[in-house]
Amino acid sequence: MAAAGLSACAANTDPEPTPKPAAPSTATPLPVAPTTSAATAAPSPQPTLAVRNATIAAPTSTQSPDVIIIGAGIAGLAAAQKLMQRGERVLVLEARDRIGGRLWTSNKWADAPMDLGASWIHGVQGNPITALAKQIGAKMARTSYDAAIGYGPDGKPLTDAQEAVIERYDKAIRQALRTAQKQDPDQSVKAVIEKALNVTKLPADAQRAVSFVLNGKLEQEYGGSVAELSAHWYDDSAEFDGEDELFLAGYGAIATHLAKNVPIETKTQVRRIEWKRGEASVTTDGKTYRAEKVLLTLPLGVLKRGAVAFAPALPAQKQKAIEALKMGVLNKCYLRFPKVFWESKYDWMEYVSPKAGEWVEWVSFARPTGLPILLGFNAADAGRAIEALSDEKIVASAMQTLRTIFGRNIPDPTDFQITRWNADPFAGGSYSFNPVGAVPEMREHLAKPVDETLFFAGEATSRKYFGTVHGAYLSGIRAADEILAV
Ligand SMILES: Cc1cc2nc3c(=O)[nH]c(=O)nc-3n(C[C@H](O)[C@H](O)[C@H](O)COP(=O)(O)OP(=O)(O)OC[C@H]3O[C@@H](n4cnc5c(N)ncnc54)[C@H](O)[C@@H]3O)c2cc1C
Repeated sequence: MAAAGLSACAANTDPEPTPKPAAPSTATPLPVAPTTSAATAAPSPQPTLAVRNATIAAPTSTQSPDVIIIGAGIAGLAAAQKLMQRGERVLVLEARDRIGGRLWTSNKWADAPMDLGASWIHGVQGNPITALAKQIGAKMARTSYDAAIGYGPDGKPLTDAQEAVIERYDKAIRQALRTAQKQDPDQSVKAVIEKALNVTKLPADAQRAVSFVLNGKLEQEYGGSVAELSAHWYDDSAEFDGEDELFLAGYGAIATHLAKNVPIETKTQVRRIEWKRGEASVTTDGKTYRAEKVLLTLPLGVLKRGAVAFAPALPAQKQKAIEALKMGVLNKCYLRFPKVFWESKYDWMEYVSPKAGEWVEWVSFARPTGLPILLGFNAADAGRAIEALSDEKIVASAMQTLRTIFGRNIPDPTDFQITRWNADPFAGGSYSFNPVGAVPEMREHLAKPVDETLFFAGEATSRKYFGTVHGAYLSGIRAADEILAV
């Protein structure tokens, strides 16, 4: 997920983070004491694996594995690691030529590893990923929503009056959604807000403020368009307390750590799964693998596109969940410049864009890394639209916004890195969200094992922490426990 909050511009009443330590590395899995957001129910203690160098069971070339795990993202790797530590023979099949899935650190810039998927540990306090980061001694950098500046449509820093308008609509939106959450039937966030605020009758600056708040606070975080996000359930998730922290050497280090000793076949796309109780076969383009149990960590977007065939078909309840839940989009555009031309004391820059949702949120890497790098986000509808453009057009569009803010004379970027998560055949979007027509129980339906033979993990199966790395990780541990309990 990206940012949840606007801070310079609109008062953020969402719970704000504060840092904390993580548990030390030991030889056995250890629970990390949780601390929770005031806004959410207290989560139970979160497990973090202690990854060891010891030799652990892996299937030999003549043996069938006990468990086939599909997907070497964080959910699959966490499950593999836990199962192997308990003596199970596992084999991970991964379609891409790399591990990590939506954890993907690019090393295109040798001095600046950039995360094209997840960047932040959201809420470091009690977060199991914080403990893993400590295990590997990862260098972290804190970014703060307090270090933020907002710019108006004309590119000038927001005036007090403009900030007051944004703050007023931010409160009104929050209030309207709270009221809608107590009323049936469920509606989209957009429908609720248009009605409650009579948006079409508002003056242009107020309409822009509404669009800015809806995009910055909801679409950037959940990835779904406000026209689709469920007013009842869009925010039905829990959070960890503490600041957000970036991995200076890239989030991919966590995947590499969890992959230690795990047998993984990359470039191995699963096409078909046949199963009956106690027996499953998994077919790729050239091979069929057999095991008593299969753990699927396929992203919701892959399941929705029907890219893997099941025989017999998955239970109706699971199919309904796959159909109803949706994948959101968050795309990144990193721009590297010859020098820093913006104020490097700010982590976040926010733009009240005249074009709804376009280039609203920016992160500066000048403070965390000392390098002249900016990251622009596009989410939901704007995220989908930007993907359809060529790289050159995306960079030109980003530069138009930056020139509106910083002037015509700023230099062109020397290089860029761009994501297209919706088009990605092995993700089908960035992360899942709760649209109108879905209810949170559907995530439990998605997670539910079938006939003690098919097991399911991945961020979309986490009712509490969907859309996050920690949600995916914990789902992998949960699925491993389910397998071990059979
Ligand atoms: C742009 C972006 C920014 C994000 N920012 C953050 C953030 O800052 N903080 C945060 O906590 N979360 C963030 N997230 C969300 C987080 O990255 C995901 O929730 C998490 O990584 C999902 O892990 P997973 O194991 O469930 O799925 P994945 O990582 O997608 O793993 C599934 C694996 O299955 C593989 N696969 C797919 N199809 C097949 C097939 N047919 N056969 C074999 N293998 C297959 C895929 O290649 C993939 O490796 C972000 C995501 C994106 C895209």
